[in-house]
Amino acid sequence: MPYDYDRTNIFARILRGEIPCRKVLETAHALAFHDIAPQAPVHVLVIPKGAYVNADHFAAEASDAEIADYTRAIGKVCADLGICPGDGGAGYRLIANSGDAGVQEVPHLHVHILGGKVLGRMLQRTPAE
Ligand code: AMP
Repeated sequence: MPYDYDRTNIFARILRGEIPCRKVLETAHALAFHDIAPQAPVHVLVIPKGAYVNADHFAAEASDAEIADYTRAIGKVCADLGICPGDGGAGYRLIANSGDAGVQEVPHLHVHILGGKVLGRMLQRTPAE
């Protein structure tokens, strides 16, 4: 499962401070920021600071510390946004697109946190189906 990480991708540039982001949270191994083109009232992206292309790359090669920190960062962002069902929030959806079939645009692992409204069914049928 060899992955070539493209160091010119836009999230790598955000991590290097070359372009700005609307930061929500930063931890030792993760950065969360608002999506530039939100598709729901809440739309935050959480990325690891390490050079990982997608979720399976991260799962295979990240350290336990990175995985723990990243996972907890996602949970903290949800808590900070007030969307956790266990705390009376309305709920949310996590999405991590990978590769062509997943329609991943930016080749650096990112989890979309979507919420702030009822999001509808998970997938919509395409016209060909
Ligand atoms: P994906 O299709 O899962 O790769 O999603 C990439 C996401 O990155 C899209 O939702 C974009 O709107 C978002 N995006 C692209 N450039 C930026 C940026 N500079 N700051 C914040 N979000 C971005």
